[in-house]
Amino acid sequence: MILNGGTVLDPSMKVHEVMDILITDDRIEKVGPGLSTQFPEEEAFDCTDLWIMPGLVDMHTHLREPGYEYKETIRTGTQAAAAGGFTTIACMANTLPVNDNPSVTRYIREKADEEGLIEVLPIGAATKGLKGEQLAEIGLMRETGIVALSDDGFPIRDAEILRLVLEYARRFDLPVIDHCEDLSTSKGGVVHEGKMGTRMGLRGIPCVSESSVVARDILMAQWLKVPIHIAHVSCKASIDLIRWAKTQGIPVTCEVTPHHLALTVDDLFLSKYDTNFKVNPPLREEEDRKALLNALKEGIIDCIATDHAPHDTQSKMVEFDYASNGISGLETALPLILEVGNEAGISPLNILSKMTIEPARILGVERGALTPGSLANLIIFDPDETWVVNPQEFFSKGKNTPFAGRSLTGRVKATFYHGKAVFLDKKNPWGLTPICTRKPS
Ligand SMILES: [Zn+2]
Repeated sequence: MILNGGTVLDPSMKVHEVMDILITDDRIEKVGPGLSTQFPEEEAFDCTDLWIMPGLVDMHTHLREPGYEYKETIRTGTQAAAAGGFTTIACMANTLPVNDNPSVTRYIREKADEEGLIEVLPIGAATKGLKGEQLAEIGLMRETGIVALSDDGFPIRDAEILRLVLEYARRFDLPVIDHCEDLSTSKGGVVHEGKMGTRMGLRGIPCVSESSVVARDILMAQWLKVPIHIAHVSCKASIDLIRWAKTQGIPVTCEVTPHHLALTVDDLFLSKYDTNFKVNPPLREEEDRKALLNALKEGIIDCIATDHAPHDTQSKMVEFDYASNGISGLETALPLILEVGNEAGISPLNILSKMTIEPARILGVERGALTPGSLANLIIFDPDETWVVNPQEFFSKGKNTPFAGRSLTGRVKATFYHGKAVFLDKKNPWGLTPICTRKPS
């Protein structure tokens, strides 16, 4: 099969130019100009005026299965991922039961093989039950296929436990992803602590709740010489600390979510207590958002991760204080981030590196590149199509998005996994029947 005449954007080869791609079976065989004339017998997809990019890698997704299938299943979560342009996602351990032992890891892997559309890489809990008290079955989970450790949703409060987690992680060559939050300062908080929160009469979560734990984690990584990855950074103070750590050569990496780059507490205020804007860490101030964008541009932020957190309607249709945290983010991430990045002067190629090779590097998997010989995981994207976000059209069960009604430019037209189309948009340029279907076995 040949994808011809598309603009190929690939951060691994640093290319952004019109080229053809030849796919044989599940691999990319050739990338270059004029392939369609060299191989006229191949089935061709005309990609004129479209972008061809590597399938995206999300290192922070909540799939909710097992245990919360009413919020999302591996099936619907991977459909949402494919429709959003992702071909590899790493799923967090806060399921029911928690993924803190090899039988849950195996369940997730088998279910993803049977029903998933794309690659699902399980993240194991660092501690049993995410309680921060005893280590989870790290070695056995590693053998069963976890790619990282995280108690995401909760911080690892006890520094001695964190030390043990980091030492085990080093032994098993697993990255540790920490949700940085000091619960003693954030307790009961539902919104960023500041003027807006006070005006809304809601209890605040100060920036120091995050940055104080970021500081601890950096010092631990420096002391033990073990890498640590900071999840969903939201404040300028955390960025300043991470920048310092990087200048010192401390092995710290971090991620930012599309919603922290696109929204602030002011948007929450204007939304009049819309619980779809309730996230943890909370939406911060414009100064923080600017600092995140600058850090992304400078390379202080290593990757963009969705923190896709689908919820049922009941969990959001309650008073702000009681609503669950999170945004269903997989299906809006790419166009949103390209738009926000464009406004901040960040090139699409730079943005794309933060959604492909960079998260793959942190997870230690070879993904997110279009180099010949790579698995043919790629997306075809129309950079000019404008559409309005309608959560009722999401493949995700989670309709919880603060972007409903927002007009976005850029849409995924097709997603290929191992050389086969697993997603084709209903409005595709080839007049093919739309699909969102199981991956080839
Ligand atoms: Zn988290």
